[in-house]
Amino acid sequence: MHHQTFLSLFREVLSAPTAPFHEYHVARVIRERISEMKHVQIEEDAYGNLIACYRRGKKRPKLAFAAHMDHPGWVRHKGEPVFLGGVPEERLKPKKGKPHPVEWFGEFGMWDLEPFRLEDDLIHARVCDDLIGCAAILALFLELEKAEAKTTVYGLFTRAEEVGFLGSIEMAKKWPLPKDVCFVSLETSAPRGGAEQGEGPVIRAGDRISVFDDAITSELVDAAVEEKIPHQRALLDGGACEATAMNLYGVPAAGISILLGNYHNVPPKKGIAAEFVSLTDAKNLVKLITATTLRMARQKKSDSSKANLRKRLEKRLRDHRKYERAARSSWEKN
Ligand SMILES: [Zn+2]
Repeated sequence: MHHQTFLSLFREVLSAPTAPFHEYHVARVIRERISEMKHVQIEEDAYGNLIACYRRGKKRPKLAFAAHMDHPGWVRHKGEPVFLGGVPEERLKPKKGKPHPVEWFGEFGMWDLEPFRLEDDLIHARVCDDLIGCAAILALFLELEKAEAKTTVYGLFTRAEEVGFLGSIEMAKKWPLPKDVCFVSLETSAPRGGAEQGEGPVIRAGDRISVFDDAITSELVDAAVEEKIPHQRALLDGGACEATAMNLYGVPAAGISILLGNYHNVPPKKGIAAEFVSLTDAKNLVKLITATTLRMARQKKSDSSKANLRKRLEKRLRDHRKYERAARSSWEKN
């Protein structure tokens, strides 16, 4: 994707104000962008999650990439401001000095921070978590449109993740997609387990609560290796993501994360600040999900990553049979 196209998309999505339950500005931007895409349809479930589908040709869908539209923030409840989402109490009401100012958008408020700024390779934004994921799904659709890809793939945009995966749980309970479609959470997460910002998107082994679907994780890794897309493998057990919610309800799920600085606007020492991610990581995330989608569209069942790994290991078994046979007499003698 052209650098400027990428930046204008990410700037527009990341600049939309949002908070748990107040995701309408983000939803509007997503709908506007999708209205310009010829092969993408979008609908809304009863909870207000958005379900988009790129469909060209008759291929059966295998993947649904998902991101949440909310971010920790202030909401007005019965006239009182309440903070929703995981931010330490000390940062909301510091013992020393004034709390960080809040900018109100009608019934919800966000920390008064610059919505979007690019500096060197870093995107600094009021919200990276998880509008980076939302923008990456839109970028995937643009790439598929450009490639005239013959495939079917979903993009899910969920509500109220920051207060306990509410949107994705509502979706999992009445799972609206074909049964074998795998949910792939696109998240932003604090660095853990040796993973480093700028070294590529992290294909997660799991999160703080559960481990992820092995078969689909292998597809992500194989696509990254084949296309030489920088990537990392880690558990990232600093938090939990929507893949865990899906796992609980029996929907196969995997996850990819972009490493995030100032997670939930909380810098290491004090105060409130913009979150930041590496622009290169964000671009590689789009490359990774596009490559995986295209690769799986070409694939027959017998070509799956797991089937291929089994074939390789079975060949090794056959290749070493002669040594095993030759050693038998020694086993009998000793
Ligand atoms: Zn998140």
